[in-house]
Amino acid sequence: MSAPAYQASCDSCGAPMTYDPAAVGLACDHCKATKALAVTAVDLLPYDSWKQQDDATEEVFQVTCEGCGASTTLPPRVTTGTCPFCARTFVAPPSAVQRIRPGGVLPMSVAHPKAVEAYKAWIGSRWFAPNDLKASAVAGAFAAVHVPSWRFDAHATTQYTGQRGEDRTEHYTETYTDSDGNTQTRQESRTVTDWYSASGSPRPTSPSS
Ligand SMILES: [Zn+2]
Ligand SMILES: [Zn+2]
Repeated sequence: MSAPAYQASCDSCGAPMTYDPAAVGLACDHCKATKALAVTAVDLLPYDSWKQQDDATEEVFQVTCEGCGASTTLPPRVTTGTCPFCARTFVAPPSAVQRIRPGGVLPMSVAHPKAVEAYKAWIGSRWFAPNDLKASAVAGAFAAVHVPSWRFDAHATTQYTGQRGEDRTEHYTETYTDSDGNTQTRQESRTVTDWYSASGSPRPTSPSS
């Protein structure tokens, strides 16, 4: 697993701190002291104002796995590592790319031992899972990966044309032959659909959050 890109130091002993999902905060690697994470609401900016920010993008070091093709970012000054998706060692050196700076990070909510436990229980119930996959569960070969996602709100206008069907009940007289061979009539009803051309522009609704 690669080292975190944003490193915090322990207030008590100065050792590096690592994010601990169980504590929803940082835990000192050395003296186990913990520090709560400052959780702040993320400002959602209109695209134009976001683009004018000086720090809208940032330079990161990215490496593409020659095994599975996944792109992964590495912390600054780190040049080697293994792919978090297929565990292959990176061969090509990382290259600098500009990418959109994340507006926020959702912290991991499941601690590593719990994730291994849950995976072991799940893979154990898969009869046809390859043995290699089951062995990876035993080894606890897990890497935490942040998956980038974007949220967009948009005001959009759309138009439609089509057919609108309206159901109505139609009464009719049915002729039939009774058990004595006589012709009889009876009243029946059925549902028929009348079709009309329809077109318009749906009224905009406020974006759901
Ligand atoms: Zn410490
Ligand atoms: Zn890979």
